[in-house]
Amino acid sequence: MPQVDPPEFTELLGLDTGELEEYMVSLGEPNYRGRQIYKWIYTRDVSSFYDMSDIPKELRRRLDSLAVISIPRVLKQRVSIDRTRKYLLELQDKKRVETVLIPQSDSKNARYTLCISTQVGCPVGCSFCATGQSGFQRNLSHHEIVGQVLGSRRELLKKVKAVDNEPLITNLVYMGMGEPLLNYDEVLQSIKLINDHKGINIGQRHITISTAGEARGIERLAKEKLQVTLAISLHACDDALRNQLVPMNRKYPLERLMRAVEFYSRENGRRITFEYILLDGVNMRRQDANNMIDILKPLLANVNLIPYNEVVGLPFKHPARAKTEQFCRWLQDGGLNATIREEHGADIEAACGQLRAEVRSQALRNY
Ligand code: SAH
Ligand code: SF4
Repeated sequence: MPQVDPPEFTELLGLDTGELEEYMVSLGEPNYRGRQIYKWIYTRDVSSFYDMSDIPKELRRRLDSLAVISIPRVLKQRVSIDRTRKYLLELQDKKRVETVLIPQSDSKNARYTLCISTQVGCPVGCSFCATGQSGFQRNLSHHEIVGQVLGSRRELLKKVKAVDNEPLITNLVYMGMGEPLLNYDEVLQSIKLINDHKGINIGQRHITISTAGEARGIERLAKEKLQVTLAISLHACDDALRNQLVPMNRKYPLERLMRAVEFYSRENGRRITFEYILLDGVNMRRQDANNMIDILKPLLANVNLIPYNEVVGLPFKHPARAKTEQFCRWLQDGGLNATIREEHGADIEAACGQLRAEVRSQALRNY
C-alpha cells in the first residue's frame, strides 16, 4: 500500500483576533468571519466547526477539512470534599497535564480560581515537589496553556451552573506543573489571550505567576509592565538551605533573586507575594523567621505560608498546626504581612505540588 501523508491541519487555538481574521481572508472569506470564530473559541469553548451556528454550512465543512481547534479533553476528574476539582487533560501528543479548580469561599455564587500548568513535568527539580521529581518532558505551547482554561471551563460548565452569566473562572494562577518563566514566550502569549476582554477576559490583576526564582525571567517580565501578580517560591532564607530545596538557587542565589524582585516591584509598583512551604524541622526555626524578616521587610510583600502537602516517597513532613501558627506569629511580630494558606483538595492530591500526571498515569483508575 502506498503511504499517504496525513493532511496538515491548521491549529486555530492560540490565534488572536487579528490572526484569525487574516486566516479567514487567506481562505477568501470576509475578515469578520475570523471575529466570529474567535468568539466561539474563547467565549464558548467550542472546538467543532459544526457547532458554529452563525457560520454558513459550506464554510463549516471547509474549515473542518482544513483546520482544528485542539481544546484538550478532560480524561479523568476528581472532586474533593471541599469542592476543589482536579482535571487530567490530554494534549495532542497524548501527554497529560493537570489543572485544579479551587472554589472561592467568599462568594455566594460559583466562582473558581483555576490553577494551570506551563510544562509537562519540570526541569527545576525541587526536592520536595512531586512534579519536580517526575522529571521534565517538554514546554507547553501557548495554545496548550490557553486550552487548559477552555477545556477546564467547558467541563466545569457541565457540572456547575453559572449564575446570571457571571464568569465561573475569575482568577488564574500559573502554579500547576512546570516553571512558567522557563517557558517565557509561550506564557506571555497565553497571558495576552487570557486577558483579552473580547475573549476569555480574565484581568491581569486576577492573574498570578509563580516562579521558583528565575531572576532573568523576572526582569524580563518587569519590563512588560503587566499588572499580573508575581509570586516567588522562597522556601528558605539562606543560600545553603535554599540550594538544597530549590536547585535553581545555585544559579540565582538569594541576593541575585532579590535584586530582580526589587526591580519588578519598582517597575510596576505591585505587591509581591512570597510563598513559603512549611517543612517540619527544616525551615521553621526562629532563625529562619528572622532571616525572612531581614530580607522582606524593605519590600511591599505578602507572605503566604503553605503547610507542606506530603508526597509519597519524599521525606518531608507536614508541620503541626501549633508550629505553623507560631512561625506565622514570628513573622507578623517582625512586621511582615504573613498569612497561612488554606489547604484545598488535599484528599484528591490536588493541592500545591501534588500534580504529577505523567508518573501517576498508571494509577488513575481510581479517578
Ligand atoms: N514552578 C513554579 C510554579 C509551580 S509550583 C514555582 O515553583 O513557583 C507552585 C507552588 O507549589 C510553589 O510555591 C511550589 O513550591 C509549591 N509546592 C510544590 N510542592 C509542594 C508541596 N508538596 N506542598 C506544598 N506546596 C508545594
Ligand atoms: Fe518545578 Fe515549581 Fe515543582 Fe520546583 S516547585 S520542581 S519549580 S514545579
